[in-house]
Amino acid sequence: MSSSTKSNFIRQIIEKDLAEGRHKTIITRFPPEPNGYLHIGHAKSICLNFGLAQEYGGRCHLRFDDTNPAKESPEYVEAIKEDVRWLGFDWGEHLYFASDYFEKFYYYACELIKAGKAYVCHLSPEEIRKYRGTLTEPGIESPYRNRSVEENLRLFEQMKKGEFAEGECVLRAKIDMSSPNLNLRDPVLYRIKKVSHHRTKDKWCIYPTYDFAHCLSDAIEGITHSLCTLEFEDHRPLYDWILDTLETSCHPQQIEFARLNLSYTVMSKRKLNYLVENGFVDGWDDPRMPTISGMRRRGFTPEAIRDFCERIGIAKSDNLVDYALLEHCVREDLNKRALRFMGVLDPLKVVIINYPEDKEEELEAINNPEDESAGKRKVPFCREIFIERGDFREDPPRKFFRLSPGKEVRLRYAYYITCEEVIKDAHGNIVELRCTYDPATRGGYSPDGRKVKGTLHWVSARHCKEVLVRMYDRLFKVENPGLEEKKGIPLRDLLNPKSLVEQKALVEPALVDIAPQTPVQFERVGYFILDKASSDGQIIFNRTVTLKDSWAKIEAKLKKNGN
Ligand code: ATP
Ligand code: MG
Repeated sequence: MSSSTKSNFIRQIIEKDLAEGRHKTIITRFPPEPNGYLHIGHAKSICLNFGLAQEYGGRCHLRFDDTNPAKESPEYVEAIKEDVRWLGFDWGEHLYFASDYFEKFYYYACELIKAGKAYVCHLSPEEIRKYRGTLTEPGIESPYRNRSVEENLRLFEQMKKGEFAEGECVLRAKIDMSSPNLNLRDPVLYRIKKVSHHRTKDKWCIYPTYDFAHCLSDAIEGITHSLCTLEFEDHRPLYDWILDTLETSCHPQQIEFARLNLSYTVMSKRKLNYLVENGFVDGWDDPRMPTISGMRRRGFTPEAIRDFCERIGIAKSDNLVDYALLEHCVREDLNKRALRFMGVLDPLKVVIINYPEDKEEELEAINNPEDESAGKRKVPFCREIFIERGDFREDPPRKFFRLSPGKEVRLRYAYYITCEEVIKDAHGNIVELRCTYDPATRGGYSPDGRKVKGTLHWVSARHCKEVLVRMYDRLFKVENPGLEEKKGIPLRDLLNPKSLVEQKALVEPALVDIAPQTPVQFERVGYFILDKASSDGQIIFNRTVTLKDSWAKIEAKLKKNGN
């Protein structure tokens, strides 16, 4: 176990089970339903399940919980596999589908019927709901509850053969209609759905419910610890009832943990699907989406996401994690690996009047000050360059150390320059600066030890390339959109209208040849990643994160206050 690994209540349970010989090999599973792309909440579950298996020398299965064919598709299956792999986890040969167990589930259902523990119920869905009772009132038994075993077996077979219409009847467990736990009031185990399944096609028209399929899938695969989110806590008695009643040889332990909620976003596939379907985002992998594929396209790294999942830890109560923490993890990782380049977002022309008109030179730049092995590159320089408009002030306030009339600054990796003249258009807008340079300061250092306070990034006007940059901000304008939605405000009204701002940028020429998926930093501007090729050949960079780290500030404050 790595020393950075925090202990948590699940690790404690596993260690106790190993110490007391209850299990020799730890077997966990990650059980996504292929009805959408994975999001950062799933990453938490993936890191937990695969992480524990790795730590304790066991294994983790990837199991598709594909029991609800209406919303599932092979596209999602493939996307989920890609995302799990990209996060750095490997299920080896342990790829499973709940649909492969349909035959077994059917067998187990018949066993329950034979034991007098399940029955076919002809109440309508509304009646079933009404008969179920409430938290304060017991339920009412279905009039079909006491059908004979023979009748139930016959009816269940008829259900399987498609002899009933959808909604006409269901198979229910016979447990206790007055149980204080509503999940135990004769829950539905099978329902009729005349829908083709993406793997079993039209073989089945009855499909098991999550509660019936999940515990049995776990038992069939010999899972030792079945980790799920807190909302399943009240389902655990049913999980145990099914396995106990069927006396399965394996009875995994269900353990619940708090789901991840992240500020300024939503985390349910249903809601994410709504954003995709209605065109509020550019697909599941839109860089604003909290999906793994969106984060990948945004330039987040698997290392950063794993680090984030480790830091948030595993708890027993729900909370809302600050999006800034995730960005902080991304910055920390990118700082180590991103190659530095220069790019100017809001260009202001600078003419270096004492630099020869036709001269060009190549200056040496360091690719990553945090990583010597990243090497160096050449950056072209000439008489005309662009700097960032915001790096110049005609009337600088105190402590403005960048360029202003008569002031000297360093051009990164190039020369010291001094502003001699400001050129304006007829409206008084600054259109150009005229500067002189000191040829003795090549590389950006003065041999006479003369110091300058400001260092600016720049690009050569003759050599730079124009690219499109996409600046992303929070997808939603409120911290907890899920909560606002519950109050009746539709999700679309909670979207941040400024979540995507596109603009042109001028970048040094080396940047347009960068390999896809290479994180880069535009010095002093932010981290970026090359987007997938656009159809019109436009080079697009997605801004991954800004350089400013709000979380680091929060952390420093907490430390100062002794937390
Ligand atoms: P959603 O509501 O987003 O559709 P889900 O729970 O229905 O989520 P599944 O595909 O069934 O999605 O989930 C696969 C696994 O991921 C489950 O074990 C589930 O508990 C876990 N999981 C889903 N969302 C989160 C989350 N926000 N935090 C932690 N784990 C999660
Ligand atoms: Mg689900």
